[in-house]
Amino acid sequence: MTPDDRIYAYSAVLMGSPVLLKLFEHDETLASGVFRLIKQQENIFTVNRPHSDIMAINHAAGRDPVTVSAPVFELIRRAKTISCLPDSSFNLTIGPLVKCWKIGFSGHSIPAAHDLQTLLSLTDPEDVILDEQTRSVFLQKTGMEIDLGAIAKGYIADVVRDYLREQQVDNALINLGGNVQTLGDGTEGAWAIGLKKPFSDPDALIGVINVIGKSVVTSGVYERYFELDGHCYHHILDPKTGYPLDNELLSVTIISEDSIDGDIWTTLLYGMGVEKSLASLTKIPHIEAIFVTRDGQIILPSQRQFTFTPLDDSYRIIA
Ligand code: ADP
Ligand code: MG
Ligand code: MG
Repeated sequence: MTPDDRIYAYSAVLMGSPVLLKLFEHDETLASGVFRLIKQQENIFTVNRPHSDIMAINHAAGRDPVTVSAPVFELIRRAKTISCLPDSSFNLTIGPLVKCWKIGFSGHSIPAAHDLQTLLSLTDPEDVILDEQTRSVFLQKTGMEIDLGAIAKGYIADVVRDYLREQQVDNALINLGGNVQTLGDGTEGAWAIGLKKPFSDPDALIGVINVIGKSVVTSGVYERYFELDGHCYHHILDPKTGYPLDNELLSVTIISEDSIDGDIWTTLLYGMGVEKSLASLTKIPHIEAIFVTRDGQIILPSQRQFTFTPLDDSYRIIA
């Protein structure tokens, strides 16, 4: 029996991505439980369908506060706090810009500069008013829209991990497409998670990340983008300019306990670029990062919670 023979893999398409669950037992009931839970969570956070808690808040923008459940309130509060950090590239009110660009969806185009200027006035995170007493969220300006697309998967990956733990599962992997969360150590002493080769076929890897009971989140400019006149427009927008963030990075990977931290920090570090990120990382010991740059470097500032095996000679490892 090879190690992989002991793994049972279950898959579904959820949140617009293939979702993969790996278990060490054949357990259809548990797998359906996990997929049901993901669907339930998706229905709360999505902005791609008319009915969700987030859409209720967006529809009432400029008009009424909307009371939400405690977990939704907490997640929005956390997202607002990160968005309001000085120079944050994370912005929970990025919705109007995301809708305008439609990157990764049909009908994408480059918006007119003056349209972007107008929309930028609807993306001030300070305009999200939170009332602890009534647990309500109020968007002060008509046209404002919350978009939790950058952290929903991480949040849900952690919800799945906690559910699996409650079900006494101690060795499993959930991959929500970009967000991998693990319990235990897989079959060979660690779970192996591939690092994708940018702008190549989906199976091509430039390395493998090995973790035990950690989250691995990668945000790459090659995930969703369109090309026009030789320029690549990808899906992580700069809240200052309204255009896609543009620097030396092709991807940022975060290894952490919680997948939500991976989501937050991929976006924040992506916005900082390599140099500032390296300085910041020394102050946040509970997370670690891997950077892939446009000029073919894989930068590994530390390897405390993971090991990395390079698979592609055309990339230079900077450790
Ligand atoms: P992926 O969709 O590949 O998981 P990310 O986790 O980086 O990628 O999230 C990108 C999504 O986050 C976008 O599709 C959009 O919905 C939203 N978004 C884009 N720019 C920002 C930003 N600056 N701050 C917060 N959310 C953003
Ligand atoms: Mg993501
Ligand atoms: Mg992210």
